[in-house]
Amino acid sequence: MRTNKSEELFERSKKRIPGGVNSPVRAFGNVGGVPRFIARAEGDRIFDVDGNEYIDYVMSWGPMILGHGREQVLEAVEKACREGLTFGAPTEKELVLADLISEAMPSMEKVRLVSSGTEATMSAIRLARGYTKKDYIIKFRGNYHGHSDGLLVKAGSGAMTTAVPDSAGVPKGYAETTLVAEYNDEESVRALMDEYKGKVACVIVEPVAANMGVILPKEGFLQFLRKITEENDCLLIFDEVITGFRLSYGGAQEYYGIKPDLTTIGKIVGGGMPLAAYGGAAKIMDHISPAGDVYQAGTLSGNPVATAAGIETLKLLRDNKEGYAELEKKASKIREAFEESGRKRGRRIIVNQAGSLLSAFHCGENTSECISNYDDVCTCDLDFFSSDFHALLDAGIYMAPSQFEAVFLSMAHTDEDIERTCRIIESL
Ligand SMILES: *Cc1c(COP(=O)(O)O)cnc(C)c1O
Repeated sequence: MRTNKSEELFERSKKRIPGGVNSPVRAFGNVGGVPRFIARAEGDRIFDVDGNEYIDYVMSWGPMILGHGREQVLEAVEKACREGLTFGAPTEKELVLADLISEAMPSMEKVRLVSSGTEATMSAIRLARGYTKKDYIIKFRGNYHGHSDGLLVKAGSGAMTTAVPDSAGVPKGYAETTLVAEYNDEESVRALMDEYKGKVACVIVEPVAANMGVILPKEGFLQFLRKITEENDCLLIFDEVITGFRLSYGGAQEYYGIKPDLTTIGKIVGGGMPLAAYGGAAKIMDHISPAGDVYQAGTLSGNPVATAAGIETLKLLRDNKEGYAELEKKASKIREAFEESGRKRGRRIIVNQAGSLLSAFHCGENTSECISNYDDVCTCDLDFFSSDFHALLDAGIYMAPSQFEAVFLSMAHTDEDIERTCRIIESL
């Protein structure tokens, strides 16, 4: 496989852009090798600058659930472009999209549009603090909620229950109001709630964790979070930036039947454009400016081109709910192929799957029996993962270049391409 042009562009990019990329995972740092520079995409395929073709299982990390270049979405975007790229004044499209979101996720009675998932979670947390008049937040280790200061933290060591910065440039003070609990561990949440009684504004969680590989909530875990947040007068925030419109049209809250107080969405809701949102009960959302005293704003918030892409994407998903069952079937085939490929080689591969979200955890000698939290993922054999990743890439299968990410499928993945992918996985 020729990669000369990608190599050359990567070398030049590194001179102009930190690390050569505009978001770290793109640099292939976890697996080594040359990140492919993509020229174009179509359906379930991406094409790199050297003319190589791949079946795409990253799908821009989720947004392209309908596949690349879906005609109706492109037409809506083109029309919106001609009508004006941005006005900085309200448009009807924002209302149409907010209505669609609210109908899909009824817990989001009121919706505020923003431009990235990071902005959505950051704003939802500010709102939770403003609404409850409390300062502390609880997040889970290995859950990712974007890169705002208070969320770029890791658990402190030993007796320390407040977090410490996980990135240079994050002041200690920001990390100190973030408490880090263990995903799938009720006791860890209860202990923090007790120690910080009356001080916790919210618990923010990825209902299905998908940023440490895919990890499913244990039976009853989300119900427990719902209950303990109610008991402690604090808000439950579902970060559905990945799961929203993916696990089901109504997201994880529909899939598991739980009503969070606030929800953040991104990725799919923008249909491939920079758009995200947060929302919840009107009585909470009305604390956002200009209705209330929690400030939040954005020059390009509710951008007309991005909302056009979002509206068209949601409508197509809404009108094809059977699409989700098909998507799950395709994911199950990929899961079975990975399991079979492990068996054939006498290696353990544990596949976690929820709907169309899945990760194939490549196990080593010391890997846990099941992968249910961040520590478990850290026991995986990353060399084994990298070697499979590169073998797949060379065979034209583009999977996420990290064990800590998910496989993303789209409704444009054809049965033939799924079959082909499975054959290649089974022959690893
Ligand atoms: C991607 C992601 C974010 C951040 O969204 P950006 O648009 O990249 O800022 C937040 N939360 C979750 C669960 C995500 O997967």
